Amino acid sequence: MSADNLFQPPDALEREDATLAPYAMRTRDSRGRRHPEAPHPYRGLYQRDRDRIVHSTAFRRLMHKTQVLVSQTNDHHRTRLTHTLEVTQISRTIARQLGLNEDLTEAIALLHDLGHPAFGHAGEEALDECMAGHQGFEHNRHALRIVQTLEYRYAGFPGLNLSWEVLEAQAMHSKRRDDPEIKVFLTPPSPPSQGGAPGGWQPLLEAQIVDAADSLAYNAHDVDDALSVGLIPIADLDAVPFWKEAVERSRAKYPNLGPRQFQATIIRALIDWQVTDLLEHTRRNLREHRVGAVAHVRRCPQGLVGLSPEVVRLKAGLEDFLRERVYRHYRVMRMAAKGRRILHALFHEFLRLPDQLPERYRELLTVEAPQRIVCDYLAGMTDRFAQDEFLRLFQPYTLV
Ligand code: MG
Repeated sequence: MSADNLFQPPDALEREDATLAPYAMRTRDSRGRRHPEAPHPYRGLYQRDRDRIVHSTAFRRLMHKTQVLVSQTNDHHRTRLTHTLEVTQISRTIARQLGLNEDLTEAIALLHDLGHPAFGHAGEEALDECMAGHQGFEHNRHALRIVQTLEYRYAGFPGLNLSWEVLEAQAMHSKRRDDPEIKVFLTPPSPPSQGGAPGGWQPLLEAQIVDAADSLAYNAHDVDDALSVGLIPIADLDAVPFWKEAVERSRAKYPNLGPRQFQATIIRALIDWQVTDLLEHTRRNLREHRVGAVAHVRRCPQGLVGLSPEVVRLKAGLEDFLRERVYRHYRVMRMAAKGRRILHALFHEFLRLPDQLPERYRELLTVEAPQRIVCDYLAGMTDRFAQDEFLRLFQPYTLV
């Protein structure tokens, strides 16, 4: 075989033209990067975004950050990293089925929880309390700060220099829409080449998918983890119609379903049911709204990606159960309270005497307010690093 017969892959733009639906975001329509860069010879714009996120320090730290249970609970419940990977693969499945930009979807999903501090939502609330009067703390905004300012891997620019669409997806997820760091990403381009119009500027479908996948992934895996670590007895879930129906469906499919595979089978059924429903309902929305371009997605009065009303109702029942029985379980509350206590103590101690900060953060004290620098240091910490740091500062006779 001569070398001429070797497979020649299409370039990134040709591949998009050949595989994407008309309402998918295309690289050629991107608003680009803040710091202009030459294209890579074979990796597309969003592929590079994905790769940069995976290679970042903040991404690796997700391995030791709490999703719901702190990392020491055991070795097989979800961490922020495995949650992120589950959200990413569910998002990619949906993107591929709808003909959306899978590379962009993947980058948005890998980024979506990058700004979370240690100890889950309790950690986020603690830092927000510490930062009262200093613009507060919110994980979406902090993710933008990480990828625009704090990562320092590239000679040519600060942060990761990600494309506009990935940053915009993160910003649109924030509830703090009046913060200047968020607001800058909420403006349609001018002239509105992507169809921007006041009052109707929706996230891209690729971003809407990740939002939906995040929610359905954590509902399913939080039940799974709660059962696995013994927070709830499995029989109590019979009171949840969504679970009960998933059990019936699974038993119909696998009449000999044994106890060993039972839990994983029901969790899988819940995910598959929601993904299939989401695909059907979203396709219906796309048809009804005659969506034939990104401009139509942008101008739509509401989001287009979603579950059917029936599954929304069932899912809400499961969420009520999780809220009452898992997120407020006394063992989860203890982990949360301890995490908050650790972050509060560290914050106030570093602020009292910033000379205790490591060199890199001490240098930054000349550039920004000490509260923000201490907050950056704390927000970067994993669960176990925060606990170790607490011991180093407050426990006599430990190494500093
Ligand atoms: Mg998430």
